[in-house]
Amino acid sequence: MSDRSTAALTPRAPGASRLPATGTLSDRHRRPLHDLRISVTDRCNFRCVYCMPREVFGTEYAFLDRDELLSFEEIERIARVAVAHGVRKLRLTGGEPLLRRGLEDLIARLAALRTPEGGRIEIALTTNGSALTVKAQALKDAGLDRLTVSIDSLDDGLFQRMNDVRFPVSRVLDGIDAAHAAGLDPIKLNMVVKRGLNDGEIEAMAAHFKDTPYTLRFIEYMDVGTSNGWALEEVVPAAEIVERIGRLFPLEPVDAVVAGETAQRWRYVDGGGEIGLISSVTNAFCGTCNRARISTEGKLFTCLFATEGHDLRALLRGGADDDELSAAMASIWAGRDDRYSEIRATLTPELREKRQRIEMSYIGG
Ligand code: SAM
Ligand code: SF4
Ligand code: SF4
Repeated sequence: MSDRSTAALTPRAPGASRLPATGTLSDRHRRPLHDLRISVTDRCNFRCVYCMPREVFGTEYAFLDRDELLSFEEIERIARVAVAHGVRKLRLTGGEPLLRRGLEDLIARLAALRTPEGGRIEIALTTNGSALTVKAQALKDAGLDRLTVSIDSLDDGLFQRMNDVRFPVSRVLDGIDAAHAAGLDPIKLNMVVKRGLNDGEIEAMAAHFKDTPYTLRFIEYMDVGTSNGWALEEVVPAAEIVERIGRLFPLEPVDAVVAGETAQRWRYVDGGGEIGLISSVTNAFCGTCNRARISTEGKLFTCLFATEGHDLRALLRGGADDDELSAAMASIWAGRDDRYSEIRATLTPELREKRQRIEMSYIGG
């Protein structure tokens, strides 16, 4: 896949790691833009049944061509302009981001960006962990700050059925340990919980990762995209998960420390660490949502459930300068009205089905 495409880019001063502040953005619900998630590939070596089911993402599936992807230079430019607008956290995702060749180079470029005041930007990565044993040290050395690894079960048979490519869970566990040994900290682990599939694993996962350096986060199964055939009955509410774990290991809530934090945090009363709950279905957090997403081909989405993105790649490749890119971003954010998770409950299943939705593997988590 392309790392250094030859797209027409407006030249920039060498080493310009920061731009002057262009004003903090505020959308129609007065939410700032703080967090930018960037999908670096739409491809994945897993076929998780809830994300890229094999029936849809089979050999015939048309993934993006190399020249359709944003190059690292293009990603860096968008990120730099976003940072001038107030973005302070960049998360790389996919598809499987570690499949993108030379990802460390991109991380190094992004880690060199500075806020208008000269401060660092947090660089995070979400991965399925399959390549971490090989790549963890290089990621750390390139400047990665935070790592999230997806792991949905400890039962090897179930894990392999869920990733549907027979990838053993032991290799993901080894990858997590390699990341820890490389000095990556914090490391969070994401478990998507789907009733009837892996909800029987909740207690075992909690017990396994209690008293470790890792924070396990349980994610309510969401109706992202249309490939996974989502049904509300398959969602295990966060409250049920807390209740089940609390019966084994007493828990107490932890106050959110960062505005816009997606996870509700709970700590083990005995000091065994924390868990997180991402309850996008049963307890929507749209009111504080300060995230935007850039798809692999450079579309800016203002919501995970947006039906359309705004084509920043066309601007970049059409020769727009930083001021034009900045103005476009500001105007897109100013018009942002999204709060899908808050209105989901008001939609009938028919209305929900009619609404076009982008796939998680295209936009990233
Ligand atoms: N491939 C990487 C991974 O799996 O971590 C990064 C991309 S993946 C789309 C990002 C996150 O989205 C993962 O933690 C994954 O479990 C989660 N995810 C995918 N489909 C989901 C769904 N329908 N509901 C909730 N989370 C989902
Ligand atoms: Fe791939 Fe991540 Fe989706 Fe699983 S959740 S299919 S690893 S993109
Ligand atoms: Fe943010 Fe959209 Fe999710 Fe609401 S539904 S939290 S606005 S991404």
